[in-house]
Amino acid sequence: MSRTEREALVDLLSEKGIHDIFVLKAVGEVEREKFVPALMRLNAYRDIALPIGYEQTISQPYTVAYMTQELKVKKDAKILEIGTGSGYQAAILFKMGADVYTIERNQDLYHKTLKLFDKLGIRVQAKYGDGTLGWAKYAPFEGIIVTAGSPSVPEKLKEQLAIGGRLVIPVGSRASQKLYVITKESQNNFSTNIIPEFSFVPLIGREGWEK
Ligand code: SAM
Repeated sequence: MSRTEREALVDLLSEKGIHDIFVLKAVGEVEREKFVPALMRLNAYRDIALPIGYEQTISQPYTVAYMTQELKVKKDAKILEIGTGSGYQAAILFKMGADVYTIERNQDLYHKTLKLFDKLGIRVQAKYGDGTLGWAKYAPFEGIIVTAGSPSVPEKLKEQLAIGGRLVIPVGSRASQKLYVITKESQNNFSTNIIPEFSFVPLIGREGWEK
């Protein structure tokens, strides 16, 4: 797959309003075709979500870029991702120099993506489990990004956010969500910015959807 196609995707994201140069640089470097099934490779650089098997999807590049931009990732910042999926979002965060922790609840997908991380040299901490409970062992996190739609904001994720940290999470019905960008201003004080209309597969877990 040519570099030119990735460059064209970067240009498109920039035209659509993504302005964080570190996000754009990472999108320009991560080979999205390595994160999609062979049959989907021709479409890897279109700005669309694609099926990755296990009834799951790799998110649309614009959504990945937008959410990552909202996280305001700094180099070496500790970031928790809920919903490893294909591994693409984690790879973007890794390329940006973040210290990445990622959780996936689908065991087969988790093992598949772990192998891909090894193969591509993407050094992140990954775990199989229910991400709605966060990852207390490594908390607090300067950023938490949830890549599946949730009925509400899981309390544990708010608890595990560092002061000044940001939680980016789609919240709404199963069919459509708004993106919540929550900043932990102090221990018990959060501010929330709500951005309309995104669409994600459901976040399933103790503090998510039942199934
Ligand atoms: N970040 C992914 C990527 O870059 O490909 C997108 C993944 S997909 C849109 C959402 C993922 O969240 C699915 O793989 C799904 O199995 C996972 N998921 C859903 N509920 C979860 C939970 N409670 N904990 C961890 N992962 C969960």
